[in-house]
Amino acid sequence: MALIVQKYGGTSVGDTERMKNVARRCIAAQKAGHDVVVVVSAMSGETNRLLKLVAQITDRPDEREQDVVVATGEQVSIGLVSMAIHAQGGKAVSFLGHQVRIVTDSTFSKARIKSIDAEPIRAALKQGKIVVVAGFQGVDETGSVTTLGRGGSDTTGVALAAALKADACEIYTDVDGVYTTDPNVCPAAKKLDRITYEEMLELASLGAKVLQIRSVEFAMKYKVPLWVKSSFTEDPGTLVCEEDASMEDVLVRGVAYDRNEAKITVVGVPDQPGAAAKLFGALDAKHIVVDLIVQNLSRDGRTDVTFTVAKSDFAKAHEVVKQAAQDVGATGVEVDDTIAKVSIVGVGMRNHSGVAARMFQTLSQEGINIQLISTSEIKTSCVIHTKYTELAVRALHTAFGLDAPPPVTATPTVSEVDALQGQKA
Ligand code: ADP
Ligand code: ASP
Ligand code: MG
Repeated sequence: MALIVQKYGGTSVGDTERMKNVARRCIAAQKAGHDVVVVVSAMSGETNRLLKLVAQITDRPDEREQDVVVATGEQVSIGLVSMAIHAQGGKAVSFLGHQVRIVTDSTFSKARIKSIDAEPIRAALKQGKIVVVAGFQGVDETGSVTTLGRGGSDTTGVALAAALKADACEIYTDVDGVYTTDPNVCPAAKKLDRITYEEMLELASLGAKVLQIRSVEFAMKYKVPLWVKSSFTEDPGTLVCEEDASMEDVLVRGVAYDRNEAKITVVGVPDQPGAAAKLFGALDAKHIVVDLIVQNLSRDGRTDVTFTVAKSDFAKAHEVVKQAAQDVGATGVEVDDTIAKVSIVGVGMRNHSGVAARMFQTLSQEGINIQLISTSEIKTSCVIHTKYTELAVRALHTAFGLDAPPPVTATPTVSEVDALQGQKA
């Protein structure tokens, strides 16, 4: 008998029929002899709908109140899924984030989990119940509702699995595993049977939204066996796991893209100690996370500093930087939100040279200009114009030998050919 945490995403609970399907799957897992904890997201589109309502009231929402609003989507889902389990003869109880004391810090809209009280869940499991927990939400030390960032239900699932020392965490979504790249963008993408925590961490942080980055961090830290599966098929899915020797044979495991960043350039920054510290210190003070940073060669005692931030922080970052640029005596600020970052990831890159060069060549053959470059041990990223995203992803996928073989069309037998010719005649 095992303890399994299953997380179902927005599409998997997108309507009441799909919720009934989730209920069937949970009951089947329990009947197979397991203790089952289910984490559910808001119904697909619901979180966006709630954010739109907020935007209709104000373009500068109070962050605490915004979380009060967007956390409600998951409440509807847990109640309905619990009732769907009851309707099929099962026993279930729902819990909101605060009811299982998912305590987070107070960084509204991207809060981090600090602790979880597993006791109420254990008690309900002992009574033979399937425990249905709201994803995405927590509560801070003062009792305010917080949310964990887009895709945060994945993190609720893995964090609960870690807190309960579950035997497995299964993330059910609308694709049947982790692919070499987004299968909705690249039809030649291949499903992976296994991927290392490290590679998944890079892919997630570089835009592959199939798992939220924090969920992979938790899984890696607490060694949670993490599966990504489809809620619509019986495919075994992808296991995210520790690296073993054979996994280094693959040079590039996957390609990711991210269209959710924007680029800011501070022009004519005086090239003297403290300027960068002031610029980025001002951003940090507003909890704005900066991704790529490039500083150009200094000319006449001045330099340009370019960096990227999440689009959701773009307006706030622009405002902060305009002020900070003035404070450090820079000559101006330029912004561009029509960028995309494409990346290749693979633990095999550690031991091979020439991978980045092949990436640049591939992009150049497609006539795609590279604006910024960033590398680490197991990834290379390029910032390009957003209009080339799909083209870049597909070209890189082909260039690094990741394309699935074309579907085999059976060659007709001689008698079938005769029969076909007979039909035509
Ligand atoms: P859920 O609502 O179940 O959390 P998401 O939309 O957050 O689902 O994540 C699943 C989506 O992630 C897929 O539909 C796919 O478009 C996208 N995706 C991006 N990169 C990958 C990848 N490498 N493998 C699988 N899916 C990916
Ligand atoms: N409902 C939240 C979102 O749409 C959390 C999640 O689905 O994981 O981002
Ligand atoms: Mg998701």
